[in-house]
Amino acid sequence: MRCPICHHSCRIQRTWIITDHLRELTRCCKNSECGHVFATHEEYIRTIVEPVAAPVVQPNNPSSIAL
Ligand SMILES: [Zn+2]
Repeated sequence: MRCPICHHSCRIQRTWIITDHLRELTRCCKNSECGHVFATHEEYIRTIVEPVAAPVVQPNNPSSIAL
């Protein structure tokens, strides 16, 4: 993501895990003349390609793993 103020690239300063599918990121603009620090969300939205060999968690028992 680019800085919404000056459109330079940014670096991620901190990450907080909110849920298994949502993180809050603190980003810092790399432009030394800007220095904007801001927060964004990173969220899982859907699967594009199903995993080939990953274990499947049963929906009625999240702690169990089917092999
Ligand atoms: Zn900036």
